[in-house]
Amino acid sequence: MQHLIPYEIVNLKAISKDKTYRKPKNGPFGVMFHHFHLKNNQKFGQGSINKNEFEKIIIFLKKNYEILSPQEWLNKLEKKNLKKKDICITFDDALLSQYNIALKILNKYRLKAFWFVYSSVFNGIIDDFEIHRKFRSKYFKNFNEFFKNFLRFINTSPDYKKKNNFKIFYKKMKRYYPVYTDEDIEFRYLRDHVLNEEEYKNIMSKMIIVKKTSKKKLSKNLWLNNYHLKELSKRGHIIGMHAYNHPYKLSELDYETQNNELKRNFNHLKKILKINPVSISYPNGSFNKYTLKIIEKLKLRCGFISNMKSYNSSYKMKFTLRRLDHSNILKNLLGK
Ligand SMILES: [Zn+2]
Repeated sequence: MQHLIPYEIVNLKAISKDKTYRKPKNGPFGVMFHHFHLKNNQKFGQGSINKNEFEKIIIFLKKNYEILSPQEWLNKLEKKNLKKKDICITFDDALLSQYNIALKILNKYRLKAFWFVYSSVFNGIIDDFEIHRKFRSKYFKNFNEFFKNFLRFINTSPDYKKKNNFKIFYKKMKRYYPVYTDEDIEFRYLRDHVLNEEEYKNIMSKMIIVKKTSKKKLSKNLWLNNYHLKELSKRGHIIGMHAYNHPYKLSELDYETQNNELKRNFNHLKKILKINPVSISYPNGSFNKYTLKIIEKLKLRCGFISNMKSYNSSYKMKFTLRRLDHSNILKNLLGK
């Protein structure tokens, strides 16, 4: 359930035309990764990268930065000794593709990472956001084909395009996400501003039935299981928290609900790994003072946001660690 932000980067070719190419940013920060795919397995990426692209990113990072292990990162953080060159690698959302594809490259370069996992999927709960994402990329030739199908299920007249709200949204998206095609923008407008969550989910359910598949089938091989977590932990990676249900915005939940989300996640990891979790990345980067109070109580040692915003002194630095999305590194690579 994270379907508003971050808007996925859809078209890698378009990135290379993106004029906002910038020099490598100064650390310290974590590099944020989500989805990986096998070479010819996926015809359109939706922010997903393959093994080769991941390796290129790692080589670029090794050349320009010092990639710390999670343990080194924590030690330097606590000694207030993190340098501009210091970065770490992070994976969000407990995806099996991270283990099957990215881990091979990490092993090749003897690197360790933070893996931030939400626990509901370890208890057999199916997360719609991931299912819809997989459905879009697996059952349609490209994004436009998916979108054409999607439009057939909507009762809205195409008049929405003439309305001011749409025009404002369109302009904003073009400015902040120059890689998006018109269809990408229209889809996000309909999904996030025309339909409510239930209507959107209903349409997706109908489309899934038409393609003769199911949520259950789509959820196969999508997420890590407890065995993977134990293996990673044994091999020196750090498994961190990402709440229980992956709430869209933690900051909009009251103290009790947040406490429940975080404690259930904490207890799951503690039970499986026999150690207390020490780190978190906030789902969609969202947190507030309640979140910080709770993680302080849980004695966490660090917390990551999902962008490069600096909070200065308003919050403890160890709980507002910045992260750079991997797509920015691809920009650096393609911009050369
Ligand atoms: Zn997430």
